[in-house]
Amino acid sequence: MAFTEVADRVWVARYEWFDVNVTLVGGGRGLLVVDTNASATAARAVVEDIRRLGAGEVVAAVNTHEHFDHTFGNGELRSAYGPIPIHAHEVAAERTVPAGERIKARYDAEPDDPHREEVQATELVPADTTFSSAVALDLGDRMVELVHPGRGHTAGDLIVRIPDADALLAGDLVEESALRGSVPGFGGDCYPFDWPLSLDVVLALTGPGSVVVPGHGAPVDRDFVEEQRDRIGVVAETIRDLASRGVPLAQALEVGEWPFPREDLEDAVRRGYEQLPRSQKRLPLV
Ligand SMILES: [Zn+2]
Repeated sequence: MAFTEVADRVWVARYEWFDVNVTLVGGGRGLLVVDTNASATAARAVVEDIRRLGAGEVVAAVNTHEHFDHTFGNGELRSAYGPIPIHAHEVAAERTVPAGERIKARYDAEPDDPHREEVQATELVPADTTFSSAVALDLGDRMVELVHPGRGHTAGDLIVRIPDADALLAGDLVEESALRGSVPGFGGDCYPFDWPLSLDVVLALTGPGSVVVPGHGAPVDRDFVEEQRDRIGVVAETIRDLASRGVPLAQALEVGEWPFPREDLEDAVRRGYEQLPRSQKRLPLV
């Protein structure tokens, strides 16, 4: 069985491609699907796994952010379950199509990638139901909260909270997968200074018994999130410190002492330097 119950009527399936998680939240009205896998073909496998679970029909979907490994199955879910609402933060929804087109172009340039065809063949379907700060979804006998805790992995991250099950789905704000060595995804669209503060919101909404489902990898607990928050905080503080001492961007990776491998932090450092206000930067010392 692909889906495993990690909290009361909260099932997670972990797919080999990207070690990505798709989560189902069950309620009296049906199932909410959180994240939709990385292609139409990959989403067909999700639909089969949902049917095999036999826990009901899908009534809505959520994208935790706009990246293709979380959104490219949107169209396929609609093919299987009709015109269901797809929820996302307003920024994520707006960026889903342009971000998806960039990914298709990237795969186009990789003729040997085994997933090239299925990525190219996927129809881009953005979320159609958006919010800016927080919204509650009524699943019949339980409420599910979508919260934008602030920026971090992207500008439009959301977390899904299921209060009665003490479960929280963190999207890629939390990273567990061994595929990435548990290193958070600092990409070209990340916000290294905002990220620790957004994880403070996650910490405020969880307790010692909470189950936290990351976007990739195994479910974790609050301690794991706290430790990852602290390390991301060290990345942010190190960038701030280097810039204020006048270390130029070109030398920052080399000069800094980092809590993650340097090769994973190139975008984080560049984005950090770009996002620092002028008052916190000093001209390079000669
Ligand atoms: Zn992801």
